[in-house]
Amino acid sequence: MGDVLSGLESMGLGNLSNIDLFNDKKEDKAEEEKKKAAKAAKAAEKPLEEKDLIYFKTMECVCCGHEFKERVVRSGKVKLLAQDIDLRPRYKELDTMKYNVTACPVCGYAALSRDFVHLSSGQARMVKEKISINFTGLKFENETYSYDEAITRSKLALVSTVVKRGKVSERAYICLTLGWLTRGKAESIAEDVPGRDEMVKKLSEEENDYLLKAAEGFTEALLKENFPICGLDEYTFFYLLSALDYETGRYNDAIKFVEKILINRAVSDRIKDKARRIKEAIAEIKDSEQ
Ligand SMILES: [Zn+2]
Repeated sequence: MGDVLSGLESMGLGNLSNIDLFNDKKEDKAEEEKKKAAKAAKAAEKPLEEKDLIYFKTMECVCCGHEFKERVVRSGKVKLLAQDIDLRPRYKELDTMKYNVTACPVCGYAALSRDFVHLSSGQARMVKEKISINFTGLKFENETYSYDEAITRSKLALVSTVVKRGKVSERAYICLTLGWLTRGKAESIAEDVPGRDEMVKKLSEEENDYLLKAAEGFTEALLKENFPICGLDEYTFFYLLSALDYETGRYNDAIKFVEKILINRAVSDRIKDKARRIKEAIAEIKDSEQ
């Protein structure tokens, strides 16, 4: 080969003097691999941004009939990392709870996305009379929602659900998600933000209020609704109530639910283990108080 391409050195191309003239497949493949590796390296150094995980879904409002675009999480692209003690899901890439509500920007009807289409004509009338008549519209500038925007949308869903006389458990669950969003907002404040401690303390108090409301609503739902409630079976629901009682400092109430879970043979080990953790945490707190 050297002979055919001799003289390339004089043009500074000596590195090509051994190039394979006819068999370039390998070369292409190697080049392809290199490109792939470079792309992977680039992807690794630049994690997906929140906006990359969202798409716009066209919806038709069941209340007013207008079409609008709603931001929806690409669920296939996000990975569940863990759950908080009260079952709040934590995803690696973003807080999916920010996208949990569907809200019509025209008439103001809003609900948890899974409940949005469930609206009777009577309920639509109530929403129009009590909300749409005064509603001044929803505007969001960015592709993604901030925590404040998500909290506003959840509050709109909560009033819609009350106005349409939705299930007590549905209202309680929105209160729970408001608590989760408030927790997420507190966690999102960077360490070096001036006045962070004060902000976090205030948000923690707000979260506590939402969790108390959620517990109150769920307790009422126990009397009025049949299982599954909010998609939860009886003992997962008891577990959630014990967690909310624990988080809001009502330890004796929490223990009552924990005991109900632990004495039942039919309850899964997963729920029992979680309940035991609450029992242990409360025991530690009581020990430290003595
Ligand atoms: Zn509408």
